[in-house]
Amino acid sequence: MNEQKEVCAFINCNIIDGRFESNMINEGVMLVENVDGIGKIKSLGNKMEVGIPKDCKVFDLKNKYVVPGLIDAHVHLFGDGNPFTEEGVKRTPDENLEFMKSSLGKYLLEENMKKNAMAALHAGVTTFRSVGDPLYYDIEVKNEMKNGGQIGPDMLCAGPMICITGGHGYKLVSEASDSPWEGRKKVREHVYKGTDLIKIASTGGVTDSRKIGEAGRVQMTYDEIAAVCDEAHRAGLLVASHCQSTRGLKEALRAGVDTIEHGASMDDEIIELFKHNPKSLRGYSALIPTFAPAIYTSEISTEYTKLDDVQFANGRIIRDEMTKGFKTAIDEGIKVGLGTDAAMPFVTHYNTWRELQLQVKYGGALNAQAIYFATKSNSEILGIDKEVGTLEPGKFADFVILDGNPLEDLNCFEKPLMVVKRGNIIDNTREYIIPEVEKFVK
Ligand SMILES: [Zn+2]
Repeated sequence: MNEQKEVCAFINCNIIDGRFESNMINEGVMLVENVDGIGKIKSLGNKMEVGIPKDCKVFDLKNKYVVPGLIDAHVHLFGDGNPFTEEGVKRTPDENLEFMKSSLGKYLLEENMKKNAMAALHAGVTTFRSVGDPLYYDIEVKNEMKNGGQIGPDMLCAGPMICITGGHGYKLVSEASDSPWEGRKKVREHVYKGTDLIKIASTGGVTDSRKIGEAGRVQMTYDEIAAVCDEAHRAGLLVASHCQSTRGLKEALRAGVDTIEHGASMDDEIIELFKHNPKSLRGYSALIPTFAPAIYTSEISTEYTKLDDVQFANGRIIRDEMTKGFKTAIDEGIKVGLGTDAAMPFVTHYNTWRELQLQVKYGGALNAQAIYFATKSNSEILGIDKEVGTLEPGKFADFVILDGNPLEDLNCFEKPLMVVKRGNIIDNTREYIIPEVEKFVK
């Protein structure tokens, strides 16, 4: 069979290649070569450096801005960001689980998950990592979309989280393990099911806390975390840990987790472990902060979030702790990425760009830093930096075209002019916007 080859030229644009240390390319040209529907960057530079081949399709971008596709390192596909409902909150975990396992429940959930994945892509998120979804449905959705020939975002899927009995996400998005060997068995099941990473809940969380201070309570023991990390690393998988207290961070890092999700204040030992972590897969660990859920659950009235007073109070503790941890990480040069926790109330899959804004507003990051965390840094943390994360020859043509310069104003991410995934242009749509949510997060 003959290969189908086609070259497209994106001309007359300002290119932010995402390498951070490089300057913006003005009057830029980017050539994308599509082979059998998969586009890679062939070359890029200013118009004096890159010639436009004959017979190629030309897109005149009229002086607009091109940035690498966003990467969201922390989402859950099961929810779309709509606030919790009164009925939903009343259902027991067992009732929920039973429904999700039923054929109707499975169908509805998986359709919703596909919709959420596409909502992310249309908003310029070309890659994300699902870090805790029920019953391996995230893997099924990923495979169905791929096998159906649908152009979707790249998904790295963790399957269900591993927690202790009664721990964070228990029976909803997490499966229980209560000893090092049970943990190893869970990891082996995950590897068998084809997960791309392992996600654990080593401490408690806000949404299922019942006492003040419980959100960051250490749940998995050091031995349990270390066993999971060892088993996952033997299979070459990274371990991400939901972790919301200083003690939790210390235990998880000592035991070898590769990413701390959310975070909390850090002491010297924690800072050192992030930078040099002998038990991690790659010798260092990274922080994936998620400002959106912390800010929204602590600043939107419980009338709308449906959190109870204890959860609301815990939300504020976690928000302050996470913010401190983020600032320390930036000051100390710890590897930092970006995640949203999409699926939490008011955190949608299409508002990933707002997390960049929150890192700036609450965490003191610069626009350029936030863009870097969401692109190059995330690609390195997730281990996909050879394929995506920056615009360089040989990498996949995953990028977003914006009306304005995001280094000056991140708001231009709200309505991308064009999203390109693997060289394919994703049609523009606003159909995923949830007006109920927008009222609160603007
Ligand atoms: Zn999460």
